[in-house]
Amino acid sequence: MKIPKLVVRITYHCNNEVLEWMWSSDNPLMPYPYWTSCYLVDGLLIDSGAPGGENDLREFVKSLNHTQLIEKCFITHTHEDHAGGAHILDNEFGIPIYTSKKAIVLLKKGNTYPEYRQMAWGPKLLPVHAKIIDEPIITKSKKYKFELLSMEGHAPELVALIEKNQQWAFVADAVEPKYKMIFGRNSDIQEDISLIYQSLSKLYEFPDGMDNLLIFSAGNGVLQGREIITKKMEEIENLHVKVHESHKKLQKEGYSGKKLIRIIIKK
Ligand SMILES: [Zn+2]
Repeated sequence: MKIPKLVVRITYHCNNEVLEWMWSSDNPLMPYPYWTSCYLVDGLLIDSGAPGGENDLREFVKSLNHTQLIEKCFITHTHEDHAGGAHILDNEFGIPIYTSKKAIVLLKKGNTYPEYRQMAWGPKLLPVHAKIIDEPIITKSKKYKFELLSMEGHAPELVALIEKNQQWAFVADAVEPKYKMIFGRNSDIQEDISLIYQSLSKLYEFPDGMDNLLIFSAGNGVLQGREIITKKMEEIENLHVKVHESHKKLQKEGYSGKKLIRIIIKK
C-alpha cells in the first residue's frame, strides 16, 4: 500500500469564516509530520507557510475563488515556517505583506538556518519587503477588525492578532501545547521563558470577559477557552519552582557555576 503524502491539509473553522491551510514536508527523513498553518479570514492571510511549501502555497492562492481572494498578508514572526511563502505572495501575486516594526529588518535580510530545520521547512528564507503596520487591521469586507498584541518570548518580534467581537486570537507559536524550552546560548532559536510568561499573561488580560476565546495556533489546532492560557502559565510557574529546588539541591551536593546550570538545563 502506498503511504499517502502529507503535504497540504485544509480545514474550515467558525462556519467557514476561517480557512486553515496546513503544510508539512513529505521528506522521508522526518519521523512524523511537522505542521505549520496559515489562516485566511476575509481576505487577510495570517502567515505564509515554509519555504519548502511555496509551490503548494502558489497552487492554493491560484485555487481561491473571487470571494476568498487574498487582499493582504500579515506575518506574525520571521521564523521560516511562517514567513517562507511571503516572497511569492509579494513577487508573483502582488499581495502586500505587513508585519511589526521589529520584523521588517529581519524579513528584508532573509535567513539561512541549520540543516535539521531545513529538513522540515525547506532550504532558506528568501528576503521580502514588508510594510510596517501598527494599527488594527480591517479585513476586506470590513467584517473583522484585528488588534495587534505584541507577544515576545518565542521570538522577540512575534505579534498576535485578536478579533475581540469574534473572540478569536491568532497567536502563531506564542501558545504551544508544550514549550520546547530551548535554553542555552548554543541553541539557534532563543526562546525566553520569562517573556513567554509575560506575554501569556498579556493575552489573558487582553480579551477581558471573553470566556469563549478561540486560540488559533500554528500547526497545533484551535484551542478553546481562556483557561488554557492560565494552564500554560501554571506550567511555567511549576517549572520555575522545580528549577529553584534543583538548584538548591545541586548546590548542597557541591555543584556550582556552569556545571550546575548544565545539569539543570539537561533535566
Ligand atoms: Zn516560530
